[in-house]
Amino acid sequence: MITDLDQILSASAKRMKRSVIRELLKMTQRPELISFAGGLPSPESFPVEQLKQVVAEVLDTDSARALQYSETEGDKRLREILVERYKSNGVKNISLNNLMISTASQQALDLIPKILVNPGDKVICGLPSYLGGISAFSIYGAELIGIELDEQGMRSDLLEKKLEELKSKGEKPKFIYVIPDFQNPTGICMPEKRRLEIIELARKYDVLIVEDSPYREVRFSGTPQRTMYELDGNGQVILLGTMSKIFAPGFRIGWIVAHEDVIDKLIAAKQNTDLCTSSFVQKIAARYFDNGYFEENLAKTNAMYKSKRDAMVKAFHKYMPEGVKWTEPEGGLFLFVTLPEHINAEELFKIAINENVAFVPGTVFYCNGEGKNTLRINFSFMSEEMNIEGSRRLANAIKQMI
Ligand code: PMP
Repeated sequence: MITDLDQILSASAKRMKRSVIRELLKMTQRPELISFAGGLPSPESFPVEQLKQVVAEVLDTDSARALQYSETEGDKRLREILVERYKSNGVKNISLNNLMISTASQQALDLIPKILVNPGDKVICGLPSYLGGISAFSIYGAELIGIELDEQGMRSDLLEKKLEELKSKGEKPKFIYVIPDFQNPTGICMPEKRRLEIIELARKYDVLIVEDSPYREVRFSGTPQRTMYELDGNGQVILLGTMSKIFAPGFRIGWIVAHEDVIDKLIAAKQNTDLCTSSFVQKIAARYFDNGYFEENLAKTNAMYKSKRDAMVKAFHKYMPEGVKWTEPEGGLFLFVTLPEHINAEELFKIAINENVAFVPGTVFYCNGEGKNTLRINFSFMSEEMNIEGSRRLANAIKQMI
């Protein structure tokens, strides 16, 4: 082993840190502990029996291609299915050349800054925003600028102010990172008006939008909002989708929808990263759709998550002391909790662990280190009973701090 690894590490490697959440999850493995920390789908949603059959079908009929290297842009049938799904939902400006498969969304969040960001470039994100996005952009040396959210998502007035301020200094951010559907960590779904305002600003200031939307189809009530990609229709938006929350995160299948020229560059970047996403898994996913299993399983999963959310929200109303506020989203996997100003969620975490309940302190989602009195709660992984009992324990921990 060389004596000083630090000395030879690249500048970007020095910026890499292991995820706070993943480290935190290790602390929450005790069986008696109720963990609301991970962003995990429920294993009950995994269609094991159907998959056994589909895997056998793929091996019986298509093994030579399923076990071989495949095109970097992804399995043609799977891409066709995904394009057709968008089209049947009203998206017009999409064809096969606008969609590539990624090794789930996290790879997309790495490939995008890989083709767009030089060290010191500015990237705009929400305050708060998905940690895995913030961290992936930072590795490429992006300087993150946070824009506060309100109950409708990223504030367009503050975004405009920031874009104007940058323009007056001759600067232009590389992209605006938004999670419009049931945002991680807040659960907020952006209404169409706000989406349009942000698109308008992106056009005016000539900045791309990265629309990361893993929770879009995890909707229990209310009306689906049109994607920003559809609303724009003009190449300003790069849309990310994934099967992680609507099928199985272990599949590691996601996709990127964008202008052909952007897709072309991303394919070149992906070639250097992993040549292709698993051919086998893509074939299984495509056949799973073709057999008509997908929509049926998604409807079942969403019904289960709705019950879990309802149980959690009801328990919050019952147990939480005055001064605690939380979001009640129509979909996604999270509630976001705001504590009274003087309570620090990292301190609360220690007390909560003693009470055998865990969550993620919100500050990790704020690129400017704010959000000390906030926390993220996952409601999809634990059972309804555990959601209720965990809420009671969490309320107890909060009462101790108040
Ligand atoms: N984006 C957001 C907003 C997420 O919440 C997640 C997963 N928690 C991801 C991307 C990454 O998901 P995956 O790589 O499993 O598709």
